[in-house]
Amino acid sequence: MKFKYTDYHVHTNWSLDIEENGPKFEDYIAVAEENRINVCFLEHYELYYLEKDKNTPFHDENIYNYLEEIDTLKETYDFILSGLEIDYYPEKETQLREFMDDNARDIDFIAGTIHEWIPNYPITLRDKIIELLEKIPMKQIINEYFEVSESLIRSKIFKNICHIDTVFRYINENDIIPEDDCDVSDDLALKLGRLCIENDVRIEYNLSGRRFPINRPFPSRDVISKLKKEGGKVFVGSDSHKISYFKKTIPDLKKAYDFLSFV
Ligand SMILES: [Zn+2]
Ligand SMILES: [Zn+2]
Repeated sequence: MKFKYTDYHVHTNWSLDIEENGPKFEDYIAVAEENRINVCFLEHYELYYLEKDKNTPFHDENIYNYLEEIDTLKETYDFILSGLEIDYYPEKETQLREFMDDNARDIDFIAGTIHEWIPNYPITLRDKIIELLEKIPMKQIINEYFEVSESLIRSKIFKNICHIDTVFRYINENDIIPEDDCDVSDDLALKLGRLCIENDVRIEYNLSGRRFPINRPFPSRDVISKLKKEGGKVFVGSDSHKISYFKKTIPDLKKAYDFLSFV
């Protein structure tokens, strides 16, 4: 890649959760070039939504158009990568393996991710987690999140994993207060990170936490330092859904790589 630093995690209007008239490839490219960073488009790819919603950007084999658009841009810009943030569901392993067999070689960077394991209840949306809390105890949500994450890693479908403790995006002392019987310590993320090391899965240091009351990366700086020291491979992502956030986070991205190179 052309530059020293890479933001591995930005979303364009190819992702379902981007607002109307949201950022396009070119918007990121202009800012990335000016700030001398490489950028990887890590769009959401969610099998459940693809099956039921014909408006999802990747519906109907659109993945080929997506890759073609990026290929065209690559002729001019040598600091961009194509990528996907693919939702893992234990019951969809066969389909996910087939998708990877068919497409992984054409895509620069693919990361596995968990936003929901009960379809339609993504724990990355505040109102959905509140709805879910009316159905199942908080402790169970946290435990199940880490159990499904373990399956993702053990499945070996993905070489990279996003935001390993994102279940704490809203469940934390600054937001939805954890109940007394819940383990919200760093131990769960550490354990998961160590499983990544054992399975040679690269761990994201996700800088999106600044957008939320928790105001820390996923996982925390302390956890990522420990994992790096223990041999973990790490990539850094801003998880930008807006250009303003992408721009604002670039200094933090560079600092994160510098700090990680010294651990
Ligand atoms: Zn995500
Ligand atoms: Zn993302």
